[in-house]
Amino acid sequence: MAGQQFDVIVIGAGAAGLMCAAQAGYRGRRVLLLDHAKQAGKKILISGGGRCNFTNMDVEPSNYLCSNEHFVKSALSRYTQWDFLSLIAKYEIAYHERDFGQLFCDDSAKDIVRLLMGECNEAGVKVQLRSEITNVTKTNSGFEVQTSGLNYQCESVVIATGGLSMPKLGATPFGYKVAEQFGLTVLPTRAGLVPFTLHDHDKAIYADLSGVSLPIRVESKDGTSFPADMLFTHRGLSGPSILQISNYWLPGEAVSIDLLPHIDLKQELDNLKQQSSNQSLKNTLAQWLPKRFIEALIESKQLVDKPIKQLQHKDLDNTIATIHQWQVKPNGTEGYRTAEGDEHYKLNCLLYLNYLFSIGYDDFKINSKDSTLRHSLLIDSAPQNLQNYKEAA
Ligand SMILES: Cc1cc2nc3c(=O)[nH]c(=O)nc-3n(C[C@H](O)[C@H](O)[C@H](O)COP(=O)(O)OP(=O)(O)OC[C@H]3O[C@@H](n4cnc5c(N)ncnc54)[C@H](O)[C@@H]3O)c2cc1C
Repeated sequence: MAGQQFDVIVIGAGAAGLMCAAQAGYRGRRVLLLDHAKQAGKKILISGGGRCNFTNMDVEPSNYLCSNEHFVKSALSRYTQWDFLSLIAKYEIAYHERDFGQLFCDDSAKDIVRLLMGECNEAGVKVQLRSEITNVTKTNSGFEVQTSGLNYQCESVVIATGGLSMPKLGATPFGYKVAEQFGLTVLPTRAGLVPFTLHDHDKAIYADLSGVSLPIRVESKDGTSFPADMLFTHRGLSGPSILQISNYWLPGEAVSIDLLPHIDLKQELDNLKQQSSNQSLKNTLAQWLPKRFIEALIESKQLVDKPIKQLQHKDLDNTIATIHQWQVKPNGTEGYRTAEGDEHYKLNCLLYLNYLFSIGYDDFKINSKDSTLRHSLLIDSAPQNLQNYKEAA
């Protein structure tokens, strides 16, 4: 069925598509924004525990995972967190700063959806929800987008259908399929920013600790490390430090966890030993760590409980290694069901997308076997603002 002609059709009304559509509209393009969901920005609504960590006071290229570091540098220099903050001011959104310079809405992530919808509205974007896209095809003058209702023609198509995380919120592999259809290379995907699951025997050891949170430093095999909280869950480990390191962990590897990153345990134990302290190792460690956790380490023979004065050298070495380099070999991750990102995609959405369209998406080219695709753009986003991103799952 023939439909209307647009300059740009954006598919996907998430953070990416909304920002993209607004920017294209401001550039004078006639824009149609399509989504199969009945509500725009659903993932934004659950982001940041419902308050959306929309940007950060400190944003550096090194905070991002990207195979092309120059792209990140260029992107961040052309659209900064201050640009996004000026939008926040325009919509009078109250916000506050948390650890590591993270900025969150005071009230609700709904404010960010209101902002993005407001921008689309102001830029004259036609937003059409509940639209199933059945096909995207190349025509002589651009593209045809077929939906369950009308078919639309346009010069440029933007695929902003997001990654695979949170299928319950409408995530689909649509973007990958269109990429394959047009001959774009699609790399294998894996869930990013995702909790670890533990093997059954470890799960049994730490089962009672579900809900316990500790400030730790976690390190992956490649030497990447993050200081932040770790949370025991009923299936494994989560919390900001674990979500962040999940991007660097490979199946079969262990992660090394410093359970007392702010304490020099060797110094503490040496001092107590010099005083011939009768205090048990368990009680000593209980000053800093939850007793239940120490008991679990003792019961699973990772620690030997003795009065400090009786600890031999090898006991001390073992204790220090267990506490400062606790080795955990995850069974896997929780996968896309809970993932906050898709490791295939490398950039923080809000800043990235603001940037893309602040410079005009026509400037973008993608590596395609089909050069006619250069005006269309595959975008998604995942919060890979690793140093600063803090979100307990
Ligand atoms: C629990 C959680 C907490 C998070 N917290 C934060 C945070 O605090 N800060 C932050 O920056 N990021 C956070 N993120 C990540 C952030 O939410 C995402 O990176 C961002 O929302 C992705 O935006 P997007 O537009 O690329 O994709 P999405 O938001 O996934 O949008 C894609 C859109 O495309 C639509 N779509 C998909 N398939 C089709 C199809 N076949 N046809 C039509 N439409 C389709 C979907 O309905 C959806 O509306 C969090 C993520 C999760 C899961």
